Amino acid sequence: MSDSRVIFEKSVKGRMGVALPKSDVPEISLADSISPELLRKSPAKLPEVSEPQVVRHYVNLSIKNHHVDKDFYPLGSCTMKYNPKINDALASLSGFANIHPHQPVENVQGALHIMFELEQMLLKITGMSEATLQPSAGSQGEFAGILIMKKYHEKNGEKRKYIIIPETAHGTNPASVSLGGFTPREVKSDNRGRVDLEDLKSKLDHEVAGMMLTQPNTLGLFEDQIEEISEAVHNVGALMYMDGANMNAVVGLCKPADMGFDIIHINLHKTFSTPHGGGGPGSGPIAVVEKLAPFLPIPKLIKDENGKYNWTSDIPDSIGRLHTFFGNFGILVRAYVYIRMLGDDGLKSMTRNAIINANYLKNKLKDAYNIPFTEGTLHEFVVSGDTQKAKGVKALDIAKALLDYGFHAPTIYFPNNVPEAMMIEPTESETKATLDRFVEVMLEINDNINVNPDLIREAPITTPVTRLDETKANRELDLRWTP
Ligand SMILES: *Cc1c(COP(=O)(O)O)cnc(C)c1O
Repeated sequence: MSDSRVIFEKSVKGRMGVALPKSDVPEISLADSISPELLRKSPAKLPEVSEPQVVRHYVNLSIKNHHVDKDFYPLGSCTMKYNPKINDALASLSGFANIHPHQPVENVQGALHIMFELEQMLLKITGMSEATLQPSAGSQGEFAGILIMKKYHEKNGEKRKYIIIPETAHGTNPASVSLGGFTPREVKSDNRGRVDLEDLKSKLDHEVAGMMLTQPNTLGLFEDQIEEISEAVHNVGALMYMDGANMNAVVGLCKPADMGFDIIHINLHKTFSTPHGGGGPGSGPIAVVEKLAPFLPIPKLIKDENGKYNWTSDIPDSIGRLHTFFGNFGILVRAYVYIRMLGDDGLKSMTRNAIINANYLKNKLKDAYNIPFTEGTLHEFVVSGDTQKAKGVKALDIAKALLDYGFHAPTIYFPNNVPEAMMIEPTESETKATLDRFVEVMLEINDNINVNPDLIREAPITTPVTRLDETKANRELDLRWTP
C-alpha cells in the first residue's frame, strides 16, 4: 500500500478520458448569455487522466479506508449496519436523482408521495402525531426539538432556562441545548447505569424546560424507570425529548410516545441503514406529539382531499426553516425502501437480531474484559479496558490493534462514566461467524497483553498509515494536496 512507486499525481498533459465526436450544433457565444464577469478567464485546472486511471484511483482510495462493505464495523452508538444495495439502486433512478427542488409540485408528486409515506411510517414507529423530514442530521433534529421546546414555553408565557441531560449523554445533546439558548443541567447515573431518579427529582423545578434522554441510553441499557421519569418531568410542566439515535433497539417492540416522550429525532442514517461515516449526508427527522405540531418547521408537506401533495408555510407558530429546501431527499428514499422492504415483521426481527448479536458478543467477552453495566443490555454494550490498562495497554491501543485484523475499532472513551470505555455495537447485519471471528481476535489481543504488550502498543502496522500523532493531526489539519 505504501509502495513509493505508486505515484499520486496521475495527470499528464494532453491525456484524455474520452474522445468526443465533432460537434454538429452551431456554437453560441457564451458572452451573449452570461455576463462577462462570470466567465472564467483561464481554463479550469482539471487533471488530464484516462478512464482506467480514474477507476483505479478511486478503487485504491476506497480500500485504504475501512467501510462496512469490507468488514465488521462495531462503532458503538453509530449503528454502522449494512446498507442494502437496492436502496442505492432505487435512490439513483433518474426520476428521483435528477429532480430539482424548484420544480413545480405538480411534476414531483411521486417524490412527495415517498416523503409523505415515510413520515407516516415514522409516525407509526414512534407513536407520535406529526413529523418533519427536514433536519439533515440527528444533531440538527435535536436543535429543532430544542427550538420547539422554547416556542412551546414562550407560547405559554414562560421563559424557562434549563434542560436536563444525563451524564452519559452524547456530546451533541449539551451542544444543541446551548445553541438553543438553554443551560444544560446534568443528572447523575445510578449504580445500574440508568438515570438516578432521586438526583433527577432534586433537579426538577419550574425553570426546567425539558429533559433530553437517550433511550436506550448510551450504555445500551433501557431506561426502565421511564414512566416515573416522564411523569416527574411533566409534573413541573417540562417536556420530554428522546434522542432516538438508539432506535435500533426499540423499533417494532415499543413506541417512544407510549413512554411519555413529546419529541424524538430519528437518525435515518443509523437505524434505517442509509450510508454514513465520513461526514454525511445524513437525515434526522423529528416527530412530535399533537400539542407540539404547530411549532414544526416550515414548509410542511400536506396532502389535500384529492390526494395531491403540496407544501405550506402557513404555520404561524412554526420555528421557521432549518434547511434550504426540504431535507436530504436521496437519504429519505433509501430509508423508505429499507422500511418497505422489511415491513412490520422484518423491522421487528431487525431489532431482535441487533439485541441478540450484542448480547452474544457481551457474553463471549465478559470473562476476558470487565463489563461494568450488563444488566439489561440491548443493542450495544460498553466494555471497560481498566484491567488491561493496569497492565500498560490502553483502550486506544486495543482499538488500534483491531485494525490490524481488518476490523473497525469500537467507539472509545465514551460514555464518560466507564473508564477506558469501548462501546461495541454489532448491529443485526452480522453473521454468527463474523461475531465469533471478532471474539477470537479480542481474546487474542487480551492474551498478547500478557505476552507481548509492545505488539499492541505499536499497532496498527498493516494499515496504509500506522499510528498517527492524533494531537498534531487535529491541530495541524492538512487536507489539501496540490501538485
Ligand atoms: C449519532 C448520535 C447523535 C447525533 O446524530 P448525528 O446524525 O451524527 O448528528 C446523537 N445522539 C446519539 C446517542 C448518537 O449516537
